[in-house]
Amino acid sequence: MLLKEIKKPLIKCVVCGLKFQINKDECYTVKQNDGSLLQQPSCYYDAIDCTYCGCQNILWKRLKEVENFKKSNKND
Ligand SMILES: [Zn+2]
Repeated sequence: MLLKEIKKPLIKCVVCGLKFQINKDECYTVKQNDGSLLQQPSCYYDAIDCTYCGCQNILWKRLKEVENFKKSNKND
């Protein structure tokens, strides 16, 4: 029986179809550049390489942190 508790999430590789664990240390952020003429905000994604075939798997969209975000100041 291999019903040990699995804490790390599994991802199924879109290329080879094998499932592997998502390790935080192996995740990295990628930037999508579609090369269109319109200036669109860049999209960032979390990605991880398949441990079997090495192909890149996109995990989830990562929204960019807003810098110098000003809160509404009612007392100003
Ligand atoms: Zn793979």
